[in-house]
Amino acid sequence: MSNCAIVGINWGDEGKGRMVDLVTKDYQVVVRYQGGGNAGHTVINEYGKFALHLLPSGIFRKDTINILGNGVALDPENLMKEVEEVRAKGVAITPENLKISDRASLLLPWHRDLDGLEEARLADKKYGSTKQGIAPFYSDKYQKKTILAGELFYPEELMEHLKDLMEWKNLTLEKVYGAKPVTMDDLKAWLDEYCEKIKPFVADTGEILKEAVKNGKNVLFEAQLGALRDLDYGIYPYTTSSNTLASFAPVGSGLPGAKIDKVIGVVKAYSTCVGEGPFVCEMFGEEAEKLRAEGQEYGAKTGRPRRVGPVDIVATRYGVECQGATEIALTKLDVLSYMEKIPVCTKYKLNGKETDRFPFPAAQNLAEPVIEYMDGWNCDISKARSWDDLPDAAKKYVTYIEKEIGCFIKYVSVGPERESIIIR
Ligand code: GDP
Repeated sequence: MSNCAIVGINWGDEGKGRMVDLVTKDYQVVVRYQGGGNAGHTVINEYGKFALHLLPSGIFRKDTINILGNGVALDPENLMKEVEEVRAKGVAITPENLKISDRASLLLPWHRDLDGLEEARLADKKYGSTKQGIAPFYSDKYQKKTILAGELFYPEELMEHLKDLMEWKNLTLEKVYGAKPVTMDDLKAWLDEYCEKIKPFVADTGEILKEAVKNGKNVLFEAQLGALRDLDYGIYPYTTSSNTLASFAPVGSGLPGAKIDKVIGVVKAYSTCVGEGPFVCEMFGEEAEKLRAEGQEYGAKTGRPRRVGPVDIVATRYGVECQGATEIALTKLDVLSYMEKIPVCTKYKLNGKETDRFPFPAAQNLAEPVIEYMDGWNCDISKARSWDDLPDAAKKYVTYIEKEIGCFIKYVSVGPERESIIIR
């Protein structure tokens, strides 16, 4: 048995979905251990192109068991919509290949409303939430004010629990935001329409995982977003509301005693950042427009244009350390093929001094990037399938990043398709 986590090293959108899709063939179980439907993994395979939000990326492989662990924000409504969309393209999703932890907390109907109400209250000081209810959900989870998926099997207790939560939450909805209160009828409709549909998938996934490990199966832990969005180690408060780090995988998946053998950190060949918050290496103007267009950098969930910049050595080195990455997948190298000279953010300048340490979040707004340039390769590399197929300038770019971030770049991705990959 061996286990592995695939995680983002930067601000998210590094191309984790395509990497998980690639390596799942070696893993019999894939577990999502944090986050909710607020981001998207894009996967392209024989069934078509998918933006997965909550479903683990192993869902396309026959015989792979996919688990939504106790650490995820389980939104029954969004999950069932996603299941229907993926099924519509011919992918089988059954209680055999998709399992929801009975200890996963449910994202309740008011969480999405509260997200929108709070962003509206913040107006120009908003956090850039995707308004999927993730922040209100996790706050409530830690206040012990949500429902566990397993409670759906105890209807009497469930109704009483929901009523208590509703009365408590209506205080906030009405008195803080002046919004419409939720009624028991609303909640019953939500239970009937969505929760009934997720029930067949709910199981004691901790036991399933333990059994799988005992039988020598390989487990893959899949994260959403990246190290710099981790609640504790990221650019707080512009982080997500959960822990995106590999070290959280055992806790959020249902195998709290597991040790992770391999951590694949996914890094994009340049930087992108969605939403608000410090982004020291940000590019602007025409240069940014061109990179955004070449890389198709528009949010998978929201369609928002992503902020872009050169690869950021300072932030990436920090992300690698936080994730405890044992190897790196460098994605989207092909996107840089149009550049004559490739900018690289090698250091930051803070208070008049150069630094290679990732600053405290509040200090990042004061930092400036130090940019150096490397030679471009100016040719199409999307057909390269081995290291030696790459032009020298591309090899130099990859090995430079590898040396600076202190971690072996094992995979170089040169296109979104499963086969567009170089494995060193
Ligand atoms: P994730 O959330 O980390 O999975 O990242 P996203 O799915 O939001 O973004 C990755 C995007 O880049 C998707 O549209 C992928 O299909 C695409 N992609 C991934 N790897 C490559 C690559 O090597 N080259 C190109 N051109 N596109 C890629």
